[in-house]
Amino acid sequence: MFCSMILVLSLLHFAAGAGAKYDYDSADYGVTTWATRYPNFCSGTRQSPVDIVNTMPNKNLGNIKFDNYMQNNVAVTVTNNGHTYVTSSISNYNPVPFISGGGLPGTYQLAQFHFHWGDDSTKGSEHTVNGKKYAAELHLVHWNTKYSNFSEAAGKSDGLAVLGIFIEEGEANTYYDFINLTRHDVTYPGNTSTTVIKSLMGLLPSRKSFYRYYNGSLTTPTCDEVVTWTVFDRSISLSRSQLEQLRGMKYFTFSNTIAPLVNNYRPVEPLNGRVVYFSGASHISQNFFLYFASFTMVILAFLEK
Ligand SMILES: [Zn+2]
Repeated sequence: MFCSMILVLSLLHFAAGAGAKYDYDSADYGVTTWATRYPNFCSGTRQSPVDIVNTMPNKNLGNIKFDNYMQNNVAVTVTNNGHTYVTSSISNYNPVPFISGGGLPGTYQLAQFHFHWGDDSTKGSEHTVNGKKYAAELHLVHWNTKYSNFSEAAGKSDGLAVLGIFIEEGEANTYYDFINLTRHDVTYPGNTSTTVIKSLMGLLPSRKSFYRYYNGSLTTPTCDEVVTWTVFDRSISLSRSQLEQLRGMKYFTFSNTIAPLVNNYRPVEPLNGRVVYFSGASHISQNFFLYFASFTMVILAFLEK
């Protein structure tokens, strides 16, 4: 009964990993076991998340285009699926939101969004930047509309596009009040609730033109290598009490105990030669121009001597 419940709930998280048994820290099912338990693909060479260190500017990367993201106060379902806090029933958005442009090889429709977080604010994000971990990370999961549905897309190398948003502890963010409003209804795995999302755009950082982009995978088993990742440069902030709401969630361990649902992030995976592109080419050129100008002035000053 419980297993089938988890299986059904896992479908809500990532259909591609439906039924995969995993957690983050147990000896039998934790992250260190994923590569052996799920050799296709958790031991692959195009895995996520990654530590973002060196990026290659790509001036051809335009802004991500957001369509139908401007609908306000839409009712959605939120669920504790035993792995995360996930918001589904995006079908209540009419017309459905989708993204294109940026580094995306197609048009991708929103399916759900969910969070990864730590037991304190020193960790919790999946991606890191020069080793820096953020307190949490929001993932907005989209599927390529050239396929007929999410499940079909989730089996294709260009099937999914996830937007990653880093979350830091700071000012309270009222766009995320749905977490405070629903968390007590979804403390335990299998719990669901309904709530209203004030604004999808409000969940995103205000500056969306700077982002990193690379080809990777789902960050939960079965780790399918089907995700085009877009990770925004600018983070958003939640207050400590908003983050504490997420940390108050629970899950059933495989030894049938109730435990805090925290640290539900996968450690970073090697790039294996992959390139992480950066959209901020104009920003880089500006810096380059400043360096070039300073360099020229030094040379001129030297010649005048
Ligand atoms: Zn995720």
